[in-house]
Amino acid sequence: NSCKMCKSADERLESFVASKEFDTAFHRTETQKQKCGFGLQGVCCRLCSNGPCRITPKSPKGICGADADTIVGRNFLRAVASGSACYIHVVENTALNLKHVGETKGIIKSEKALNHLAEKLGIEANDKYEKCIKVADAVLNDLYKPRFTKMELVEKIGYGPRVEKWKELGIMPGGAKSEVFDGVVKSSTNLNSDPVDMLMSCLSLGISTGLYGLTLTNLINDIMLGDPVIRMAPVGFRVIDEDYINIMITGHQHSTFTSFQEKLKEPEVVKLAKSVGAKGFRLVGCTCVGQDLQLRGEHYQEIFAGHAGNNFTSEAVLSTGAIDMVVSEFNCTIPGLEPIADELKVKMICLDDVAKKKNAEYIYLDRNKYDEIDRKLINEALESYKNRRSEVKIDIPKDHGFEQSLTGVSEKNLKEFLGDSWKPLVDLIANGTIKGVAAIVGCSNMTAGGHDMNTVELTKELIKRDIIVLSAGCSTGGLENVGLMSPGAEELAGENLKAVCKQLNIPPVLNFGPCLAIGRLEIVATELAAYLGIDLPQLPLVLSAPQWLEEQALADGAFGLALGLPLHLALPPFITGSKLVTEVLTEGLKDITGGHVIVNPDPKSTADQLEEIIIDRRVKLGLKD
Ligand code: SF4
Repeated sequence: NSCKMCKSADERLESFVASKEFDTAFHRTETQKQKCGFGLQGVCCRLCSNGPCRITPKSPKGICGADADTIVGRNFLRAVASGSACYIHVVENTALNLKHVGETKGIIKSEKALNHLAEKLGIEANDKYEKCIKVADAVLNDLYKPRFTKMELVEKIGYGPRVEKWKELGIMPGGAKSEVFDGVVKSSTNLNSDPVDMLMSCLSLGISTGLYGLTLTNLINDIMLGDPVIRMAPVGFRVIDEDYINIMITGHQHSTFTSFQEKLKEPEVVKLAKSVGAKGFRLVGCTCVGQDLQLRGEHYQEIFAGHAGNNFTSEAVLSTGAIDMVVSEFNCTIPGLEPIADELKVKMICLDDVAKKKNAEYIYLDRNKYDEIDRKLINEALESYKNRRSEVKIDIPKDHGFEQSLTGVSEKNLKEFLGDSWKPLVDLIANGTIKGVAAIVGCSNMTAGGHDMNTVELTKELIKRDIIVLSAGCSTGGLENVGLMSPGAEELAGENLKAVCKQLNIPPVLNFGPCLAIGRLEIVATELAAYLGIDLPQLPLVLSAPQWLEEQALADGAFGLALGLPLHLALPPFITGSKLVTEVLTEGLKDITGGHVIVNPDPKSTADQLEEIIIDRRVKLGLKD
């Protein structure tokens, strides 16, 4: 394929994409190069029929009189509300799935995780099933509260000093769904015109998104899907084995197919695969749900091939020809997959109508009919395998990725690994061996220098400066596919961090899995802060979503800002048309929550900036320079 293409930090991926004839995001990035300046700055408003209005120096107000600050504020709030809605949808379904487990006495993979969460929420019950129901109900009741009734679990799972700060600022969230609803109302035509008020709403949305959509989703998933276990696993395209019936999974709601993945292990089901000439069924991880499966891979070794790649790797995974079916249950199932699936005769199935793809069959996930649905999925995969394998050429770049990559890190097992205490990590930070912690999170995009380019370069710069990196999201998929979690990666770290990695036999970048695991990083941060007896803005810890992609990432970002963390983005959100909004997010917030946004497209100078913040915090804490 001689077309001009977007670059990737993953060179083997890039050459594979170039060797194929398929139209992918790598190609479309070139045809979409010309960006709309008004859109980029957030100063295009199309809320009413008088518009679209675009703000310029000569026309500083829309027809209704809205200025750039109001228009940008409305657009930003609407984006954060949408992003929050996506995560709240995920935690709602996850809690409903847990409730179903309780009601039907279904599979509880980790009673330890159940007891841990119940204890955190102050829930007691007569048996484990009742406990599941009570935990699920506590979460759901909060999600469904009206906006002016505050969510109760925030005080139980939020960090004490932060909760006090949020109360002082009046940003404790009401019912998460109502917060989203009112965010949409606020940002409609001729309602709210106060950008600061709308930014405060973004912070409330950030808190409900973070504590429920992220943190609680993980903790509930641990109950149903098993606790993450630290282990080595292969990553990249090499995990795909053409001898199996391969089902690529995309999305964010792992617990939607708990039953299906258990079913694939059954001997009768393996027999079915053998009857059509395959060795069995394999789930091929892609996007965040693949990262989540990888995180818990210890429990699913028989049926999990491994994690192949992140969101913008998915088209290339499909173009290997070795995928027989795609099961998607939420976002990051990019529309570009559809024509490739059609051409390669790959069956596509959606398990959630919010993510219905136009070429896919939608199956309503009736929780009382899991058995029937699992059989349907298995039959569809068998049919697809039979129909397509003789007609489609398979080309898997087996040299892509790494045979050994450390995965499965969680807030719980990292602490256990360190001797059931944060002391060893705190000591390493206190004596300056590790300068600080950077959480590299969020998506991958194609525009911040290319696919995973900024993420990978920034991470390398940070570890070189003896800053340990914890990673969650599609950024993780990019980092592992270039070897930053594999043996040998420590050689890229500074001398001190390298020595720590060698001593503990860990890479300098720790894989926490999907974007949902930003919630796990929040727990690590709060536990470190609690250990030191300080608030989060004092920690030598920085947050970066270098290649943030979507509205969900903006809601995550709002959480980071509510936590009081410095948040780096390589590309600005669509706010730069408003001086006021930009000033509040990049400066003013420092005096409100303690957090602020740093926009810098250059990985090296970003690392300098983040290192400076870490050093400044170390000095203020009186730690060794
Ligand atoms: Fe223009 Fe105001 Fe209508 Fe927006 S709401 S399109 S700024 S007139």
